[in-house]
Amino acid sequence: MDVIAELTSLIGADAVLTAPSDLDAVTEDWRGRYRGPALCLARPANAGQVADVVRCCAKHGVPVLPQGGNTSLCGGAVPSETGPAPVILSLTRMRAVRAIDPVNNTMEVEAGCVLATVQEAAAAAGRLYPVSLGAEGSCQIGGTIATNAGGTSVLRYGNTRENVLGLEVVLADGTIWSGLYGLRKNNTGYDLKHLFIGSEGTLGIITAATLKLHPLPTRHAVAWVGMASPEDALTLLTRVQERSAARLSAFEMINCLQLNLVVGHVPGRRSPIESEADWHVLIELSDNGSGEALDAELQAILEDAFADGLLSDAALASSEAQRHAMWEVRHSVSEANKKAGVGLTTDCAVPLSAAPAFIAGATAAVRALVPDLPVIVVAHLGDGNVHFIPFFTFDAWEAAASGDRDALAAALRHAVNDEAARLKGTFSAEHGVGRVQLAEMARYKPPAELALMRTVKQALDPQNILNPGRLLPPG
Ligand SMILES: Cc1cc2nc3c(=O)[nH]c(=O)nc-3n(C[C@H](O)[C@H](O)[C@H](O)COP(=O)(O)OP(=O)(O)OC[C@H]3O[C@@H](n4cnc5c(N)ncnc54)[C@H](O)[C@@H]3O)c2cc1C
Repeated sequence: MDVIAELTSLIGADAVLTAPSDLDAVTEDWRGRYRGPALCLARPANAGQVADVVRCCAKHGVPVLPQGGNTSLCGGAVPSETGPAPVILSLTRMRAVRAIDPVNNTMEVEAGCVLATVQEAAAAAGRLYPVSLGAEGSCQIGGTIATNAGGTSVLRYGNTRENVLGLEVVLADGTIWSGLYGLRKNNTGYDLKHLFIGSEGTLGIITAATLKLHPLPTRHAVAWVGMASPEDALTLLTRVQERSAARLSAFEMINCLQLNLVVGHVPGRRSPIESEADWHVLIELSDNGSGEALDAELQAILEDAFADGLLSDAALASSEAQRHAMWEVRHSVSEANKKAGVGLTTDCAVPLSAAPAFIAGATAAVRALVPDLPVIVVAHLGDGNVHFIPFFTFDAWEAAASGDRDALAAALRHAVNDEAARLKGTFSAEHGVGRVQLAEMARYKPPAELALMRTVKQALDPQNILNPGRLLPPG
């Protein structure tokens, strides 16, 4: 029996899809930049069936590519053009919210749950699942765990890694590891969940998770601020942290080009402030006390900053609709950039204090390669995570890259990432490595670390069938 016939006998004909119309959407990435053929799309209904699929693929020597919401920005979730075509394994039939324990502040969910569904279920129980990002309406909890996703609330609540207490994982030999602990303390040796968080589908298939919940803030104060420089933004961040401490839940910065692209390319988006500014910051405080007090607190901070010449303009959201509209602008950046041209997204993090120097140095470095090149900056500034994006209109990309586009893109990415490395930063903060950052792994990751990672991969997936060619560069 061939692999498709055997999979069909194991999980049913309606769960093994081979028609081009079923495969088109899952064989191309969100930006439409990467694509490759797949043998089929397998949609198991439970962990036992996931194990059946993995065992069957191992027997036939066929790669297994787990795919969540397919929102990866680094080509991690779609097949390659070359090499053996994989079975794409989708958990879209595994979407149950199994249990919420508001006393233990935990919830157990299947890995195919969409992130927004998880947030909503937690909120309905009066709790917060804090991981939040622009793709939350389509990315899956399994995908966010496999990439250790960050987003806009890391400053207060940490990355996905800090919000996962337990996992259920199907290993490369079909073993199901049931590690769905809901404990804050559990010192029983190696904490295995951390191996799988951020492993990008290369060590096991995450089928369920126990997530950490937090009190649901009932009040929010949100402001949009125009500023002259990243240095001023950093000064303002320090002030807000000193005065509002843990109530600060987001501090996001974009440059004016990014704002203009959002306003110009995403219907319904408007600049929250009227005057033009080179840099824009979204600040959010959240708490459970009175909304008026929170607004007053943020307003006082902004008035002092204005008096000190730190900001040129600011708007404090005065209604839920205004707060929502400000966040919509922030969450529309990837959509705008996809429509506007070719942005060579980078994903650096540097020590917070080095963020302004990084932005200045990276700008100079890319313009040494392409004079006057526009650059987009989207920063989760509170985390030191700066998406520095050399940007081409579609026409400019055609013209500038008439020779070798891949080489140009690689040179520009290296220029940015070298600057991060010089400032003791990283080239990969939250999106993962996928296939786009493989060359960077080889370039920046210390050989001893790469060797250790390969040892782990060899131990858990000796046949190299789980998402091969991702995360680990050929060695
Ligand atoms: C508009 C937009 C905004 C974004 N904003 C952010 C942001 O602010 N912060 C951020 O961190 N990311 C962001 N991203 C990137 C992306 O949304 C995240 O990386 C997300 O975590 C991917 O989830 P997914 O379910 O779509 O996974 P996919 O893209 O399907 O897969 C990502 C990787 O995880 C693996 N994988 C998926 N599911 C499983 C599983 N169950 N078990 C094992 N491996 C699995 C895949 O093989 C692949 O390697 C954004 C993307 C978009 C399109």
